Amino acid sequence: MTFDSFNLPPQILKALAAAGYIEPTPIQSKAIPKILRGFDIRASAQTGTGKTGAFLLPTLSRLTAPSPKPGKGPRLLILVPTRELAMQVEQQTLKYSRFLPHLKSACVVGGVPYSAQLRKLSKPCDILIATPGRLIDFMGRSKIDFSRLEMLVLDEADRMLDMGFLEPVEQIISKMPSERQTLLFSATLQGSVKTLSEKLLNNPMDIVIHQEKANHEQISQTLYYTDGLEHKNRLLDHILKMEGVDRIIVFTSTKRHADELTDDLLAKGHRAAVLHGDMRQRQRTRTLAQMKQGEIKVLVATDVASRGIDVEAISHVINFDLPRSPEDYVHRIGRTGRAGAKGSALSFASNRDNFLVKKIESYTGQKISPSVIEGLSPKKKFNAPQRKRFSRSRERR
Ligand code: AMP
Repeated sequence: MTFDSFNLPPQILKALAAAGYIEPTPIQSKAIPKILRGFDIRASAQTGTGKTGAFLLPTLSRLTAPSPKPGKGPRLLILVPTRELAMQVEQQTLKYSRFLPHLKSACVVGGVPYSAQLRKLSKPCDILIATPGRLIDFMGRSKIDFSRLEMLVLDEADRMLDMGFLEPVEQIISKMPSERQTLLFSATLQGSVKTLSEKLLNNPMDIVIHQEKANHEQISQTLYYTDGLEHKNRLLDHILKMEGVDRIIVFTSTKRHADELTDDLLAKGHRAAVLHGDMRQRQRTRTLAQMKQGEIKVLVATDVASRGIDVEAISHVINFDLPRSPEDYVHRIGRTGRAGAKGSALSFASNRDNFLVKKIESYTGQKISPSVIEGLSPKKKFNAPQRKRFSRSRERR
């Protein structure tokens, strides 16, 4: 299948050709025709599947027709949980709309000064990309006019709810015209996301992409048992010096540990930097740009900060600490093996982490193979978890 088989405007086909995208990804193949036909969509797809294109290509196409209503407010609102994701969505918007120069976009996110965003909002805007907090802020100052709004996208809705944005999201939506097309994208469609989607969407069509499994085929997953922090540090230092380990994201469970580990890596001579939620936006943007340019080799990150990191050619993801939830594991390792490339996910664990390993394996349906590095094997004896169905009673213990 090629993009020509969809009814996309020539300017968008030209932008796709300029980006070098030949075939739609599975989520794009399924979502684009339905969105073009005006349906509400509830899609389960991870980052790395091409989901941004899946909602941008058809929504931008619909914006090529003039608005039936007067005004200068946004016709398309894309709500995202984090600043990084907002900026990536904005970049992709610019990429896909480069031959549609009359379409204007604005991005409103927290952590950066108001002035530039206010200036943009004072001009006509077709596409607004926003995080909920700053948007509510601007709405409170009467800077947002939703009278022309035709389409709403909720991107990474599960994360939005995890981050406590349910109330702001509901508040924002209550101010929108009820006659609109709503598209919800989420890694999972269960629990609170399902409840929210039932409230917001009108007869939605469900699209499920089993990307975890498909995507993981390109990612080798390995487990290293460790004796403790000092052992983890030695393993990491060794791995970072190995051949083919070019661009790495190391995940820790706390911001403080991310800072400490970065200092430790810098002291050992590694080109490392940290990315977490306490950093100023300008610093985060600069760090990501340095990573993209290859000036930084190792990015030490926490889960929230990692959301939406779209740096190509990440060769390795290292779980210095295993995440508490299997969904976070899938998000973390999805930073590598993107757009068809091969990747490696290495996880450090202790015997106490076996329940987490089991939980992840049962979620992904894949085994994380234990391995040892010569000269760095653990002193303690470790028992890899047996491959059984995960039992909840064991989790609580
Ligand atoms: P996303 O899941 O939206 O974060 O996209 C993952 C990456 O795939 C991004 O770098 C996109 O620019 C890229 N991408 C999106 N659609 C395609 C496509 N059809 N072919 C190749 N790469 C794509």
